[in-house]
Amino acid sequence: MGELAIAVIGVGPRGLSVLERLLTRLARRPPAGRVTIWAFDAVGHGGGRVWRTGQPQWLSANTTAGESTLCSPDGILPAARFATMARWSGLEPGAYPARRHYGTYLSEVFEALCAAAPPGVRVRKVTAEVTRLRRTAARLRLVAGGRAYRVDKAVLATGHGSVEPDERQLALLRHAEEHRLRYVPPGLAAEMPLEELPPRAEVAVRGFGLTFYDVLRAVTLGRGGRFEPGPAGLRYVPSGDEPRLLPLSRGGVPFLARPDVPDFPAPPVRLRVVTEERLRALRADALAATGTPQLDFARHVEPLIQREADLACPDGAARPLSGLARPFRGRRFACPGGYRDRLARLLREDARRARGGCPDGTVKAATEMLRVIRPLLPQVVDFGGLLPGSHRDFLDRFVPESFVLSAGPPAEHVEQLAALLEAGIVRPVGPAAVAAPGPGGFVVHSPQVAGSRRVTTALLEARSPARDLARDASPLVRQLLADGMISEFVNVDPASGERFHAGGLAVTRAPYRVLDALGRPDPDIHALGVATNHTRWFTEVGTARPGQDSPFSGDADAVAAALLAGGV
Ligand SMILES: Cc1cc2nc3c(=O)[nH]c(=O)nc-3n(C[C@H](O)[C@H](O)[C@H](O)COP(=O)(O)OP(=O)(O)OC[C@H]3O[C@@H](n4cnc5c(N)ncnc54)[C@H](O)[C@@H]3O)c2cc1C
Repeated sequence: MGELAIAVIGVGPRGLSVLERLLTRLARRPPAGRVTIWAFDAVGHGGGRVWRTGQPQWLSANTTAGESTLCSPDGILPAARFATMARWSGLEPGAYPARRHYGTYLSEVFEALCAAAPPGVRVRKVTAEVTRLRRTAARLRLVAGGRAYRVDKAVLATGHGSVEPDERQLALLRHAEEHRLRYVPPGLAAEMPLEELPPRAEVAVRGFGLTFYDVLRAVTLGRGGRFEPGPAGLRYVPSGDEPRLLPLSRGGVPFLARPDVPDFPAPPVRLRVVTEERLRALRADALAATGTPQLDFARHVEPLIQREADLACPDGAARPLSGLARPFRGRRFACPGGYRDRLARLLREDARRARGGCPDGTVKAATEMLRVIRPLLPQVVDFGGLLPGSHRDFLDRFVPESFVLSAGPPAEHVEQLAALLEAGIVRPVGPAAVAAPGPGGFVVHSPQVAGSRRVTTALLEARSPARDLARDASPLVRQLLADGMISEFVNVDPASGERFHAGGLAVTRAPYRVLDALGRPDPDIHALGVATNHTRWFTEVGTARPGQDSPFSGDADAVAAALLAGGV
């Protein structure tokens, strides 16, 4: 009888999905020998870092209870209890759970999985950070919490890591230190020292996406403010303790509201142009025409997406999509108040539209389509599927614009933001706004809004750290990189030699073995989830589909199959 020891490093949603597929496979074909699965998480098993159960109530998921699931269609989790977050919690399928509430679901899923382990299989839970992983003869040796463990296989599902500040951020940190200012680098809002922002102080906030909404809720609802219904919609009743937030962003528009969607699993929007077959054909055409299968996203794929949007919304209101995401492109405002009023009206209208759902023929049908096609796009983007320059453009331009339109919060949060603009708590700087160190603070201004220049004593980066393996702050990743056991994915155009250092961890196609410094796949170490972003795209949990096969459980299943392939 053999023995097999597997380490799952990081038990957020991705690590949890690997565990679910491993146990499902082991239950179906019970092992002859013993299997030990070591489950390591530095924060907590299930919810992990993003969904940690101790975070405040006002931090909310932007996926609904009805679409959030850890159950795969043929998995061992009891569907009567865990089929979806809605089933488990009793929330309406269209409700947006508090992040910590979903974290509790995930943690209970973890406990249920441990309890359901078939005979001969044990899940051992270790709440500690793995700081080392090395090869010793035929096995792997890892260190966590000062103890060493020997395993045969390991899975890196380490998610949203932290990165060291880059040159620009270091300069801002130095400026803050020298002039007794506050500078908060990119991170998770739940981990930022937001309580240190003084009441009524002006705080420049770079980023107008989901982390901005988190920060906003923390300094308003989290400081005793509240929203009340009024004749013109929600209005804000301040507590008096709020700082004034000055958001800066490229487009001058925050992430817009997600339409109220019908129950999953029915997809709310039907795809007519952007289909798997169509995307596959694009690659074959490119190969025939140019000798390389690499695509130019703007030239080959975006026109299809625009056609899909035009079919969803035939009156031209979603043409072009990029104009919808950047409505203030080239517009000038005579004063900050003019821009702020225009934005507040736009947000009220957006929230109103979102409450109408996304029936065919509406702008929200076109923008929801962008969400629906997301799980298809990895087919064209992943593993160097785009030409290097196009890959960069996809990440720098297409993704941010498409996220403004399709990755936003529920309508209620957008309406709350409108109310906060009207109450003067949020004072956006303007389109194309910039912040720079200057005398006495951080100087912010928008070239499109006259009179927008302000000097603030605090600057906060409202975004998750960008994936950049070279700057990864985790001791584990640094050691693996230094030892040449992992490497960075570089997208290369073989014809021109052009290279794009995407910053992600290099892995093979399924079952996602890490590639060492010489590009050789490691037979025993796999990686999936956010850790592999930029090599792959859109590895977040939003790709799970209740009751259906999905890339989310498919990825985990491929890894689980490979981990067990040697037999026990
Ligand atoms: C603030 C925020 C909100 C989000 N909201 C949503 C949402 O509403 N809906 C949605 O679909 N997606 C959302 N996302 C996207 C998110 O990427 C996924 O939901 C999901 O959490 C990713 O899963 P993961 O397992 O890959 O990574 P993570 O959730 O980051 O989990 C990785 C885990 O690994 C652990 N870990 C890392 N390194 C080590 C180590 N060396 N040793 C031990 N443990 C380690 C961490 O503690 C962590 O718990 C959000 C992301 C963020 C940052």
